[in-house]
Amino acid sequence: MRCRKLIVPGRGRCRSHGGAAGAPFGPRNGNWKTGAYSQATKLLDRAQSAELRRLYKLGQEIGLFPKRGQRRGPID
Ligand SMILES: [Zn+2]
Repeated sequence: MRCRKLIVPGRGRCRSHGGAAGAPFGPRNGNWKTGAYSQATKLLDRAQSAELRRLYKLGQEIGLFPKRGQRRGPID
């Protein structure tokens, strides 16, 4: 049966099942090296990827990337 104790806010678990303590997040964790895989970096990476996709789509819309066999240049 699933534990029915109150979940500790921010930890997703009750005190008995890992909500009370745990490894610190971020640079306070001993395994932290550069932060290249940190939540903040991943968030930033996602935002930048989304921006690139947005710009690429825009480029496609205005014909910036000619399809194979198509002439490159201004639209007639
Ligand atoms: Zn529990």
